[in-house]
Order: sequence, then C-alpha cells, then structure tokens
Amino acid sequence: MIDSTLLKRPEGYIDGQWTAADDGGTFEVLNPANCKALAEVPAMGDGETRRAIAAAKRALRLAPPYSLARRREWLTDIRDALLDEKEEIGRILCLEHGKPWKEAQGEVEYAAGFFDYCARHLDLLASRKLEERPKGCDWEVHFRPIGVAALITPWNFPIGMIAKKLSAALAAGCPTVIKPASETPLTMIAAFTLMHERVDLPPGMVNLVMGRAGPIGDLLCAHPDVPMLSFTGSTEVGKGLIDKSRDQVKKLALELGGNAPFIVFDDADLDAAADNLIGNKFRGGGQTCVCANRIYVQAGIAEAFADKLVERVKALRVGDGMDDDIDIGPLINRAGFEKVRRHVADALAKGGTLLAGKHPDDLDPDRGLFYPPTVVAGVTPEMECTREETFGPFVPMITFDDEDEAVTAGNDTEFGLAAYVFTGDDERAARVIAGLRFGHVGWNTGTGPTPEAPFGGMKLSGIGREGGEEGLMEYVEPQTVPRGG
Ligand code: NAP
Repeated sequence: MIDSTLLKRPEGYIDGQWTAADDGGTFEVLNPANCKALAEVPAMGDGETRRAIAAAKRALRLAPPYSLARRREWLTDIRDALLDEKEEIGRILCLEHGKPWKEAQGEVEYAAGFFDYCARHLDLLASRKLEERPKGCDWEVHFRPIGVAALITPWNFPIGMIAKKLSAALAAGCPTVIKPASETPLTMIAAFTLMHERVDLPPGMVNLVMGRAGPIGDLLCAHPDVPMLSFTGSTEVGKGLIDKSRDQVKKLALELGGNAPFIVFDDADLDAAADNLIGNKFRGGGQTCVCANRIYVQAGIAEAFADKLVERVKALRVGDGMDDDIDIGPLINRAGFEKVRRHVADALAKGGTLLAGKHPDDLDPDRGLFYPPTVVAGVTPEMECTREETFGPFVPMITFDDEDEAVTAGNDTEFGLAAYVFTGDDERAARVIAGLRFGHVGWNTGTGPTPEAPFGGMKLSGIGREGGEEGLMEYVEPQTVPRGG
C-alpha cells in the first residue's frame, strides 16, 4: 500500500471536509507496474454527488463576486503548492499511472503552468466599457461565473487534465464538483490535500467524488444546478454526455479522442523528425490523445526514415517508472495492453512488416503490462491501427507519394485533435497545415499543448478549448449592460 504525506485521508472531499462513501464502500487502486493494490478509496454515488453539488451551489458568489485579487491568490497558491510538492505528487502519479517518475514530475510542472497562466491573465475577466456609444447608451460587459462546473477527467494525465479545467473554473469564480478516473484518483486526492492545507478556498469551492462513473455522470448531466460540464475522455462517453445533458441545455466542454497523423516529407530533416516522433509517440507510454497514431512517410525516404526510427526505438528502456533511466512504463491496464496487441496483430496479419518489437503471439499480459515499443512498416488504410486510436507504444508506418495524398490520408478520420507535419519547405507547410482539419498542428515539432495556447479538437475530437485566453473564457458568461439616460 502507498504511504504518503499527501494521502493522509484517501477519501472524497465535500464542503471542505474529507468524506467516506455513505455506505462505507471502497474500490482498489492498482499499481500497473506490478498489479498490486496501492490504496482503497471511497466508492461514492448519487447521495454524495448531490451533497457535493449543493455545497458547490452554496459556494457560488454572484453579488458581490469573488474579487479578482482573491481568485488570483487561489491560483498562485495552488501553483506554488504543486511546485513545492512536485516530487511527491509525481511519485504518486507514477505509482498509479505507470509513467516514469521524471516524466510525472514534468506533468506536475505542466499542471502548475495552467494555474500560473490564469493568474497572470486574470485581468482579461475584468469588466470593460465599450469605447463606442451605440444606441445612445454606455455599454458595460461583465464576465459572470457560469455557476457550478462539473469536471470529469481521464487517467492519462492525472494532474494535467484537472489543472486545465480547475484553473479556468477558479479564475472565473466557479465552484466545482470533480470526478477523477477510477484508475488514478490518488493524484487527485493529493492535489486536494494541498488545497485543503495550503489554499484559502471557501468550503464547497472544490469537491471531489469518486466511484462508478455512470450514476455520477448521469446526475451531473441531469442536475439543474450544474450549468457546465467539462469532460476529457473518449468520444463514446462524450457523445453520451451530450445526449444526457440536452434537457438542461448545459454548456459542454469536451476534449475527446484523437487519431493523429504524423507526416514526414522528403525535404524534412529526418533526424529531427525521428527524434520528435520518439518524444511525441512514447510520452505516457503512447497513451496520450496527441500521440502520433499514423505515421505517413514520403516514399523516397521511407527506408532511410525507418532505419533512423528503429535505431532510436531499440534504445528505449521499458520498466517500472520508479526505476532509474526508464523511458516507458507499463500500460494502464489489461484492456489497454490487449488493444495494442490487437492492433499490431491485425497489421501483421494484413501484410505489415515488423521492424521493431515482438510478435503479439509472444506477449502475455499475465507476465506484466509492459508492452515493447513496436514499429510496423507497410501499413494500409484497411488496418485497424489507422482507424482507431491505439493508445500504446506502436508506430505504424504508411508511405505516400505527394502532398495531396498526404493531406487526404491525414484527414481520413472522424477525429481532428492533433497532427504533425515535417517539411523544410515553408510554402508547402502553409498549404498542408491549412488543409488539415485538426485543432493542433505541430510544424517540425512533435510538441503537444501548453498553458499559453488554446488547445482542443475539431470534428469528433470535441468542443471548446483549454489553455490560452480562449480557455480562460470557457467558464464565464458575458453579461452586457447598456445604460440609458
Ligand atoms: P473514458 O473511459 O471516456 O473515461 C474518462 C472519464 O470519464 C473517467 O473519469 C471515467 O470514469 C469517466 N466516465 C466513464 N464513463 C462515464 C459516463 N458514462 N458518464 C460520465 N463519466 C464517465 O476515457 P479514458 O479511457 O479514461 O481516456 C482515454 C480517452 O480520453 C482517449 O480516447 C483519449 O484520446 C481521450 N483523451 C482526450 C484528451 C483531449 O484533450 N482531447 C486528453 C486525454 C485523453 P471511470 O474511470 O470511473 O470509468
């Protein structure tokens, strides 16, 4: 079992108090590196969620609202607490998620960056007066908190994803009810410990419920006192949330699945492209929504690029994320392992060539959830790995002949989250990027989102943006006041 100063009370949190489940029920949190239990946390449901919503509603202040100065203090205090406890939060995150400890600490810094960004740009939410006097009136615009916000997060960034949402919600003055993924609630509890001990938040401003997602999610969708729901996770669950919240005409912010193309043209710096692909693809063990999922390489350089890639992939070290010098930890669970195995097996059965990694028949999740980084060449559009997000350390390589073919193939997906283009030709880059229907397009870089810029999906990858000025505006509703006389 895990022992941590940040997990003194591994419980939910409602109205400023640590809270067990009403019926005393719990569920286990496992370490994917050894499949042993780390902790038991409360299995909450309808009653606890209703109390959390009621507490959040009491914490909402409309007149007068929480001042910008007070909100800035919450944000900077959370930022400082996260940075002070970077190592310990990173350790908890590594133990429950599996990603290497160093990478987990990087995620904590990334999370702190969202609180920092919102604190530094909070004045964007100050009321403003129009310079013009249309219709003979003075016009004021106020940015009102939308109200209680429900925040549902996935397991792949246990602190990063909540930071994106919570920073903007607190900046707006919105109380929150938070539901973390059942695989990774401990990092969230650690963050709540810090908020409980170090941040002067009013009771009810942040509430934490854990347990079966269906009933909790249904209530958050249907409840009239929750006007906003922000969700990061699969497109399938996101679609269900749209259906279930329609009667409330709820504001939804949805960060959903991806199927990122990574396009390498023959005029690209191939070493830089290979280095960036390694950094992008194997982050979080390949379990991120912005990981390259389909690698398109122009035919003339396909072999040379594959050689560079395979050399780098073979140097990656797979193991327990708490061990030194590990690049890739275990996959999150058995279902995740089986999905990668299925995609690799399908690609090989349909004619792909294994360039690195092991044949799926030689792998067994009973021997551990560590999936060897795998490269397969000769991938075609009929293969499952081009249609679905693999969410694991598998690089499928596809060749193309010209620019039009690359753009058409890149867009041949219902998703539109992230894409990457490697070319030394600026004009070509401008044409290709404009043609790609993705919310984030890396040009000669595999980098993902940052707190300073808006990030979100097109098409079935979602609605809304997190980060940047656009993300800061997600939790406010403009109120316009023309003053006559
Ligand atoms: P998931 O199954 O959709 O779960 C995400 C969250 O939703 C978890 O907290 C889960 O709770 C909860 N949930 C599940 N069923 C629900 C329901 N019926 N009502 C309300 N909440 C429900 O997704 P995941 O497997 O954790 O995450 C992987 C997916 O997230 C991938 O598709 C990935 O691309 C996407 N993702 C997108 C972004 C982005 O920024 N666009 C970022 C990261 C991940 P339980 O854990 O208790 O089931």
